[in-house]
Amino acid sequence: MSPHAIIAPKAGGPEVFEYVSTERPVPGTGQLLVKVAAAGVNFIETYQRSGVYRVRYPFTPGSECAGTVEAVGPGVSGFAPGDKVATAEGSATYADYTLLDADKALPIADGVSLEEAGALPLQGMTAHYLINDSYSVKPGDTVLTYAGAGGVGLLLIQLLKLRGATVITTTSTEEKAALARAAGADHVLAYEEVPDRVREITQGRGVEVVYDGIGKDTFENSLKSLKTRGTLVLFGGASGQVPPFDLQRLNAHGSLTVTRPKLADFLLDPEERRWRSAELFDLVAQGKLHVRIGASFPLSEAGAAHTALESRATTGKVILVP
Ligand code: NDP
Repeated sequence: MSPHAIIAPKAGGPEVFEYVSTERPVPGTGQLLVKVAAAGVNFIETYQRSGVYRVRYPFTPGSECAGTVEAVGPGVSGFAPGDKVATAEGSATYADYTLLDADKALPIADGVSLEEAGALPLQGMTAHYLINDSYSVKPGDTVLTYAGAGGVGLLLIQLLKLRGATVITTTSTEEKAALARAAGADHVLAYEEVPDRVREITQGRGVEVVYDGIGKDTFENSLKSLKTRGTLVLFGGASGQVPPFDLQRLNAHGSLTVTRPKLADFLLDPEERRWRSAELFDLVAQGKLHVRIGASFPLSEAGAAHTALESRATTGKVILVP
C-alpha cells in the first residue's frame, strides 16, 4: 500500500482535511527519513489549518512525532536505519513518513515508548522553557496556570511541583479538575474564580508568575492575579489572541513584566534541544513525569482530533497513529 498523509487544500474547519496517497519521500542532505509511529497534535496546527497563522496550501500539518529511521541522507552522521527518534521541530508529520533534519532529531531514552516520545517533545519542552527561562521558578513560588488538564497543563503542573512551587490552576469540568489534582495541583479553580480566589490563596499578595496559554479570555484576570513585579508569560491563545495592549498598564498594576515567547526561540541549537529533551525523557524513564495520552486517533481521522482539541473535549495529549 502506498503511504498516506493528511493535507489541507485550503484554510478552513477540520472538515478540509483529506487523507491522501503520497510518494515515500527521499531524504536530502542532512535529513532522515522517519517512519512515523505517533504524531503529536498541537494547538498550533489548528491555527495553521484555520488560517489564523499563515501557511502555504496545500498544507500537511504536524511538527511533532516519534518513529523509526528508515534511511539517512548524504552527510548525516550519528543516526542509522533502525534508530528510534523524536522531534518537536519536524514538518508534515501528519503522515506515514516524514523527512527530518538530523540536527532536530532527539534520541529517545530507554524506557520511553514511541507513543510517549511522540506525545512529549513539543508540550514538554514548552513547559521546560516556561519554568526555566521565561521566568525561572524558585522553590516556594506560587504560580497560576490555566487548563490544568491540558497537554501543556498536566506537564507544567508536574514540573512545577518537582521544582517546589505552589500551583494554582483552572479547569472547565470536575473530571478535568480531578486530573489536575492527581498531577499535583494544590488549588484547582473555576475560571471565574480568578483573580479573587488567587488573591485569597496568596493572602492578598498575588502570584509570582502566571503562565497563560488561553489568551483573549484570561489575559485581564492574569494581570490582576500578579504580585508587584510579577511576570505574565502569555504563551498561547486557545480562546483567541489578546488585542493590542497599552504598556502603561504594566506600570499601573505594579511594575509587571509581560513576555510572549515561542518554543522555537528556546531551541536555538542541538545542545539546547538535547538538554531540554534529555531532562524530560529521563524524568519519564524514572517514573517522575507522567505523559497522559488522553486520545489516540488513526491518522485518517486528523479532522476529528482537531475537532476534539478545539471543543475542549480532550485531556492531556492527543496523538495520531498511522
Ligand atoms: P490543551 O490540551 O491545553 O487544550 C487547550 C485547553 O485550553 C482546553 O482543553 C481548555 O481546557 C482550555 N481552553 C480554555 N478556553 C478555551 C477555548 N475558548 N477554546 C479551547 N480551549 C480552551 O492545548 P495544548 O497543551 O496543546 O496548548 C495549550 C496552549 O499552549 C495553546 O494556547 C497553545 O497554542 C500553547 N502553546 C504555546 C507554545 C509556545 O511555545 N508559545 C508551544 C505549545 C503550546 P479547559 O476545558 O480545562 O478550560
